[in-house]
Amino acid sequence: MTHVITSACIDVKDGACVPVCPVDCIYTGGRMLYIQPDECIDCGVCLSVCPVAAIYEDHAVPAGEAAFTAINAEFFSTVTGWGAPGGADARFTTDKDHPEVAARAPK
Ligand code: SF4
Ligand code: SF4
Repeated sequence: MTHVITSACIDVKDGACVPVCPVDCIYTGGRMLYIQPDECIDCGVCLSVCPVAAIYEDHAVPAGEAAFTAINAEFFSTVTGWGAPGGADARFTTDKDHPEVAARAPK
């Protein structure tokens, strides 16, 4: 179980979710933020503070946003190679994005 950040975060990334996460498992990419699915403890606090309702419980991701469950996971495996770093900080911040996010047209 995890929470998933979806397309509404793209080019918004205001960071409101970052300081409220008790395990620092929300990481900054180039155009959006990503949740490390193995570190998320499913507390739901981030969901309540997101101004654009970009965050969902994984079982509640809307059909049109379903790709984002894998997109969040793959950001840490194939995109950055970070795996589970154990907490977001300056070392684990990047301007990279998942290819499906990078390919999205600007809003
Ligand atoms: S559900 Fe909780 S642990 Fe998971 S990303 Fe959100 S704030 Fe962090
Ligand atoms: S609060 Fe929402 S829009 Fe802001 S960075 Fe987090 S997921 Fe993105």
